[in-house]
Amino acid sequence: TEAHLTAIESAGALNAFVHHTPEIARKQAADADVRIKAGDAPAMCGIPIGVKDLFCTKGVASQAGSHILEGFKPEYESTITTQLFDAGSIMLGKLNMDEFAMGSSNETSTYGNAVNPWKAGNSDAELTPGGSSGGSAAAVAAHLCLGALGTDTGGSIRQPAAFTGTVGIKPTYGRCSRWGVVAFASSLDQAGPMTRSVRDCAIMLEAMAGHDPKDSTSADLAVPDFEAMLTGDIKGQTIGIPREYRMDGMPEEIETLWSQGTQMLRDAGAIIRDISLPHTEYALPAYYVIAPAEASSNLARYDGVRFGHRADIGPGDGITEMYEKTRAEGFGPEVQRRVMIGTYVLSAGFYDAYYNRARKVRALIKRDFETVFADGIDAILTPATPSSAFELGSMTDADPIQMYLNDIFTVTVNLAGLPGIAVPTGQDRRGLPMGLQLIGRPWEEGALLNVAQCLE
Ligand code: GLN
Repeated sequence: TEAHLTAIESAGALNAFVHHTPEIARKQAADADVRIKAGDAPAMCGIPIGVKDLFCTKGVASQAGSHILEGFKPEYESTITTQLFDAGSIMLGKLNMDEFAMGSSNETSTYGNAVNPWKAGNSDAELTPGGSSGGSAAAVAAHLCLGALGTDTGGSIRQPAAFTGTVGIKPTYGRCSRWGVVAFASSLDQAGPMTRSVRDCAIMLEAMAGHDPKDSTSADLAVPDFEAMLTGDIKGQTIGIPREYRMDGMPEEIETLWSQGTQMLRDAGAIIRDISLPHTEYALPAYYVIAPAEASSNLARYDGVRFGHRADIGPGDGITEMYEKTRAEGFGPEVQRRVMIGTYVLSAGFYDAYYNRARKVRALIKRDFETVFADGIDAILTPATPSSAFELGSMTDADPIQMYLNDIFTVTVNLAGLPGIAVPTGQDRRGLPMGLQLIGRPWEEGALLNVAQCLE
């Protein structure tokens, strides 16, 4: 714990940790010490972790990367952090993220972006750690913690993992409790671990997972011993390679990485099969209707009354002006864009044309996956991202759709509620890490982690 606290202090330039909690860490470390000495220590006991700012942590600033939650210190602890603390984990602090988890580069954060510890070749240019869990990814990659909590609504664990050479899993929807995690798009949001190895990922996931009566969408299923499922044996398993993920203009390096990963799984004894997921091309447009729709509803609670920031109002101002000023000051431009899109697609005249249509597309995407799984596919291998990490600032002035294209390979998994993992599998010609994604059957994270280990 002390070594990690020191490392965090000297890595301030990465802007990964945005709230430091050394007192809590030292107290938890002392408690963990007692348990370890008494021989009562589960696997996560004494492990220093970082927590994405999206999680409510009791008495500790929890701002979701937003100005509107300035000064908000929850009275309660999220279920997931409670579980990890009960298992003896040590919280070093809260981690940077895109505002309300909306973004792919960390640049929408009210704290300013986190920085990727990796550099491209001899260049000094600062690279994005990805988003929205960019602080988590940067902290794990820079050895500032042994594992970090992330969340993934459309790729926010897997894309930053791929950009930083770390492992990140988005579990099956319902595997981990959402209670106490600030909501972005409730039907897509899922928390997951980010670590430096698949084994660590399995250990941390096991401690986080499980049924929670406080989250009605959490599944009442037993949590398997994920670590014990890492046998390394994938002989006879069938891995699908979906042809629709071979996009026009995909960089050759990504194409090569994908072939290498395929070969690694074949060498490990897997059967490789070409498959089709025909509705893939509609996933991104459907996601960027459904996610903003749910966000516009979830973010309605930030009204200047109940949480965080409230704007100063003039003598003639009433409650409407207070709401308007607070939300105009408190939300950044990307969040405002999503709230406006979401409100529009849910409005009376456009609901059927946009929101309902997107829901139908979502059902078709889910069915695509069900069909291939019913047909004997055990896991699906795809690229995690359409490129390796890009330079900070290089996309901020571009059309927001350019940024949304980062999620092209990841959003299908959230729409279908499936588990998906990003595993570092190679490097690009500038020496930057690149990751592949494996998608698994619902509730089969253990089997998925086992396949993932063959790509490390
Ligand atoms: N980049 C995607 C978005 O901006 C995904 C974010 C996420 O998974 N939280 O919506």
